[in-house]
Amino acid sequence: MSKLISIDEARRRVLEAVRALPAEDVPLAEALGRVLAEDVESPIDVPPFDSSAMDGYAVVAGPDADLEIVGESRAGRPAAERVMPGTAIRISTGAVLPAGATAVVPAEATSADDGRVRVRASEEGDNVRRAGEDVRAGRVVLPAGTPLGPAEIGVAASVGRGSLSCSHRPRAAILVTGDELTEPGRALRPGGIYSSNGWALAAQVERAGGLVVRRETVPDEAAGTREALAAGLDSAGVVIVSGGVSVGPHDHVKPALAELGVEERFWGVRLRPGKPTWFGTRGDTLVFGLPGNPVSAMVGFQLFARPALAAMQGADASARRSRATLDEPIPRHGTREQAVRVHLEVSDDGWHARTTGPQGSHMLTSMLGATALARIAPGEGEVPAGERVEVELL
Ligand code: AMP
Ligand code: MG
Repeated sequence: MSKLISIDEARRRVLEAVRALPAEDVPLAEALGRVLAEDVESPIDVPPFDSSAMDGYAVVAGPDADLEIVGESRAGRPAAERVMPGTAIRISTGAVLPAGATAVVPAEATSADDGRVRVRASEEGDNVRRAGEDVRAGRVVLPAGTPLGPAEIGVAASVGRGSLSCSHRPRAAILVTGDELTEPGRALRPGGIYSSNGWALAAQVERAGGLVVRRETVPDEAAGTREALAAGLDSAGVVIVSGGVSVGPHDHVKPALAELGVEERFWGVRLRPGKPTWFGTRGDTLVFGLPGNPVSAMVGFQLFARPALAAMQGADASARRSRATLDEPIPRHGTREQAVRVHLEVSDDGWHARTTGPQGSHMLTSMLGATALARIAPGEGEVPAGERVEVELL
């Protein structure tokens, strides 16, 4: 770890190595959380026809009148009749505006009796929704690269799409290393700790749109580490390793990766927590060697792996940035930029940030309630309360 690089430079090297994944057709029912790989152009006007915005009577616009009711237009069942001066057609919300009608008088402004209806005055276009008012045929409603949330799914459905072309989900293999690790649900041995990294990282992968295809825990031992890494490299486009990436006598990850032909792109970031972060590639496969400390692993994923997963899916990989006022002082680190877990709250003068509590890289509870990482530049002393700092939203 000769020369540490900045967070931004590390991220640049990661994104430079990313190859976008191909697309596949995804049924709408499974598209939530996926990233669109095509421009979705509407083949139709939405609404597809002029329709009523109210329950009432379709009329030829004009003054107060006493009209003969000649038919009914219901949602999905247009009237066969035509509206002419002196007549009206009963109509429901969303029903096709009958031929000849130029306005709808809402039911509240009418009184019907024995096949006739008195309507209040109306002007042309009253309570009429025009065809294409929401979407005009030919408009691109969702551009490629859009992450599909509930609103996007709804709009895709509204223009008639039953499936969408989406980028493949990145396949991820997660490998956690350490003799001390015990799976949750089992009894702890002396000197053992529960392994949290595999779980937190898998959840982060899923949130970022990835698919966890392999998950393994290996002891601090060269052959086992190499075997597990080889299997991960063969089955996934992204391999995420936690722990064992330092230079201790029990750190076997780096030598194993070298033997397996993974080329180092960086090792060591001017970052706290997460200095011993490693990144390399073999072909198009990305390998992230994250520190074992649980906070460092999660922060490293957020800063480096999450943008990679986004870019692989063709989505915007840039961090969602904002600025916030610190509500408490934060001591600077002499040489490394800090990613401080903060909770953001909005006030009259914008966003305010408060740390989530003690920030040790082993204190995973510091991730609870964190809505952003505040980036604190290195230097002397502290950043005082009241100062504006850059934050990256989680
Ligand atoms: P390492 O990077 O392997 O030197 O590990 C650094 C620290 O993180 C040690 O205190 C490890 O016990 C801890 N650690 C490593 N892996 C995990 C894990 N999967 N879950 C929780 N803590 C871990
Ligand atoms: Mg270890």
